[in-house]
Amino acid sequence: MSGGRGRGPVLDGDHHVHSTFSDDAVSSPQENLDAAVRAGLATIRMVDHVRTTTTYVPDFLAVVRALPAHDGLTVLTGVEAKILDAAGAIDAPPEVLAAVGTPAGVDRVLLADHQFPGPDGPWSPRVTTERIAAGLAPGDAVEMLVLATIRAMRSVARAQVAHPFSLLPKIGLTEDDVSDELLDALGAAAIETGTTVEVNEKWTCPGERVRGRWAAAGVELVAASDAHHESDVGAYPWLRSVGRS
Ligand SMILES: [Zn+2]
Ligand SMILES: [Zn+2]
Repeated sequence: MSGGRGRGPVLDGDHHVHSTFSDDAVSSPQENLDAAVRAGLATIRMVDHVRTTTTYVPDFLAVVRALPAHDGLTVLTGVEAKILDAAGAIDAPPEVLAAVGTPAGVDRVLLADHQFPGPDGPWSPRVTTERIAAGLAPGDAVEMLVLATIRAMRSVARAQVAHPFSLLPKIGLTEDDVSDELLDALGAAAIETGTTVEVNEKWTCPGERVRGRWAAAGVELVAASDAHHESDVGAYPWLRSVGRS
């Protein structure tokens, strides 16, 4: 499932695959499963978007659990939810969060930086960019994002960081604005909490410096296509081009 210490993610797993339970994806869980078998994957994590008001998770779990078994392919589950605020609140139904890692629940919660986790709730990229232009220091913004992610990790039994730092280019920043100290804090918290961290094909992140630092620290990096169509399951043109670490 994962690379060893100091390595990037192994590419025979896909830890972030969306189905028609997400309103922006087009393939069924069965179609994604078939794609994983064709791609020769050892692991597929089926994941769909949730908000606090989402009600489909029991149906989603029933459908995924009813899929036919294939030798050599492990099917895992998850929900993807944004981090809402600087305190690390997660935009998922409380009962879904409470059941994570139990037999009745999803296996992991994917923590996403779809919006900036501000002190008073989610800020859109536009609002965040305006606040930075108005004087919010980039370093302070990045620290708020990283600390919110760590708090969210600590608040659920099993987490996975989705597309780390995909938000930064949308708010005029880059991974160069993230200090080594903050990278190490996030990495240490991931290890301590058993949180996996994605290398995400769709968003082509995180970059080489971040991947290398986390891999060297022993963070469990996992490959993630973020597929919204079966044809993207386990397909890693960017990940293969950047190598395994
Ligand atoms: Zn996402
Ligand atoms: Zn996603």
